[in-house]
Amino acid sequence: MAGYLEKIEELAGQARQQIARAVSLEQLEQWRLNLLGRKGQVTAILHDLGQVSPGERPLVGKQANELKNEIGRLLEERRAALEKEQLERAAARSAIDVTLPGLRPWTGSIHPLNRTLSRVNEVLYSMGFSLAEGPEIEDEFHNFDALNTPADHPARDEHDTFFLEGGLLLRSHTSPVQIRHMQANPPPVRIIAPGRVFRRDTPDATHSPIFHQVEGLYVDENVTFGDLKYTLEQFALRLFGPDTTLRFRPSFFPFTEPSAEVDCSCIFCKRKGCRICKGSGWLEILGCGMVDPSVFEAVGYDPERWTGFAFGMGIDRICLLVHSIDDIRLFLESDTGFLSQF
Ligand SMILES: [Zn+2]
Repeated sequence: MAGYLEKIEELAGQARQQIARAVSLEQLEQWRLNLLGRKGQVTAILHDLGQVSPGERPLVGKQANELKNEIGRLLEERRAALEKEQLERAAARSAIDVTLPGLRPWTGSIHPLNRTLSRVNEVLYSMGFSLAEGPEIEDEFHNFDALNTPADHPARDEHDTFFLEGGLLLRSHTSPVQIRHMQANPPPVRIIAPGRVFRRDTPDATHSPIFHQVEGLYVDENVTFGDLKYTLEQFALRLFGPDTTLRFRPSFFPFTEPSAEVDCSCIFCKRKGCRICKGSGWLEILGCGMVDPSVFEAVGYDPERWTGFAFGMGIDRICLLVHSIDDIRLFLESDTGFLSQF
């Protein structure tokens, strides 16, 4: 009898430890089979009761049954605990920490040059100008001759212009669009010609072999320099704001006479003088002038009847100024770190 009772005692100690240390439901199930299964250790004791002497049988049977019940209860408790742990782990894995910064979806943005170009175009459209376009590959007549730029003019130097085969070239300004438009349309004319232009410049912070211009042309009867001034002043007010003033300085362009460089009151310091305007209070933004009669002759307009003005500006330069960007090469480098700021 002592043998059976000791065995039950030993088995009880073992079972309690095993069940308490089970780390998974699978392991717990293994212990259950070992103890209470068809060939389990507790099952075996109960099975052997027939061999215990009748006097001892009630006590051994009672102990064995109590052990069986205790193990059943311990298994159930441990199973519940393990299931709870499992649920908690799963919840922790799928939990959303609302304090973490979100993942921002990658979105594109409009290139700063296009943004500036659109803004300039919008202002000019609102003033009654309409869009004209022309090819980027031009011939010498449209790029130079018709614009009163004779063959010995420095602008025609090979160092400035990209010449192609067959007398063609990459346009060095948007002015040939004026010529093409006037050749194809009788006056009056009120157009803008935005586009890419090309010059043989070595790229650095302020020079690029590709840059962007917007050109304007206004032709009608009795157009005066006063009309030119008023138009550009309205343009500057709408583009840069109501405090903007312009300053016209005499200049020279082959295709206009008289010609002027136009400075705009500094948009950063309002003419007080700052780093951007180098203390002058003015920013140089465009060139303009009254269309030279020889240009009208080249396109078949009667210079005695028609007068007009033209103006042109560099979009890259305006964009650099407006956004305080200090390197024009950034516009062509497709650096998403730079572009995503716009
Ligand atoms: Zn300034």
